[in-house]
Amino acid sequence: MTMSAGGEFALIDQLKKFQTRGSSVVMGIGDDAAVLKLDQRRYQLLTTDMLIEEVHFTRLMSPKSVGHKAMACSISDIASMGGVPTAAVISIGIPAKLPFEYIEQVYAGMRVCARLFGVSIVGGDTIRSDKFIVNVALLGEVEKKYLITRAGARPGDSILVTGCLGGSLASGRHLTFTPRVKEARFLVQHFKPTSMMDISDGIAGDLRHILKASRVGAIIEEKKVPCHKKVTFNEALTDGEDFELLFTLPFTRARKLLEYSKVHRPRRFIEIGTITSSRGLMQIKDQKGFLKPVCLTAFTHF
Ligand code: ADP
Ligand code: MG
Repeated sequence: MTMSAGGEFALIDQLKKFQTRGSSVVMGIGDDAAVLKLDQRRYQLLTTDMLIEEVHFTRLMSPKSVGHKAMACSISDIASMGGVPTAAVISIGIPAKLPFEYIEQVYAGMRVCARLFGVSIVGGDTIRSDKFIVNVALLGEVEKKYLITRAGARPGDSILVTGCLGGSLASGRHLTFTPRVKEARFLVQHFKPTSMMDISDGIAGDLRHILKASRVGAIIEEKKVPCHKKVTFNEALTDGEDFELLFTLPFTRARKLLEYSKVHRPRRFIEIGTITSSRGLMQIKDQKGFLKPVCLTAFTHF
């Protein structure tokens, strides 16, 4: 099997068998972050995200925003679990001709983002590479009662997102987005989602992870999906790097959240569909009310 035939997620499934699990491991591979025991009240969260030039950014883009993106991607994964980020180590691969100033600008971007979200930058590693690479490994914490995983969505639950979707790469939003820590903390403290993740590859792909982990299906309603300006419905479903949260709530709790958000946080939480019992089946209810299977493919690396 090659990567282009099997894809990233088939490989990750294969790699699961190489996991080693000590007694502190609560959850290993398969969610937005690993979950480890911390103390009586809290879990530790651990995630890592790697960006490489020409795939996630180019040399023409502002190095400060590349730094912001690198830090924000990892923070977003901690938010997805309901947690708050705490400390990061940063590894970089640098081409020999890259000026110091470029790397300092990347770090300046990471520092601003880290400060905003209470992240301590405490170390890293430096190697030589052909392309510029930056990897942020990030620790976080979550109260045990607030941990949300991708498993837990139940038939009848509403599916919601925290903002408009699509066009992130074309518009440059992928470099400037705000990880939804505040929203995630608000949700876990007051509404307790049944499942949650961040949208990095588009919901056509990402919602499948929730469906798989929760062993359920879903119907997405075309007329409810919030699209960014100049973005089509299909693009909203398949464009990568939105970094909004995708989460599920029991129907009545969803009504309460939508009622609340109408008054306090306009358009911050938007319902886009419903969880069904048809395991693994993802359908779209189109503008006319007809159901059709989702045949779109989300962003993939290979
Ligand atoms: P995200 O997009 O939320 O960062 P990924 O899709 O990158 O998540 O990863 C999904 C899961 O697979 C995570 O639990 C992650 O830790 C795990 N994973 C990804 N790549 C590897 C790898 N090379 N080795 C082990 N686990 C991996
Ligand atoms: Mg994620």
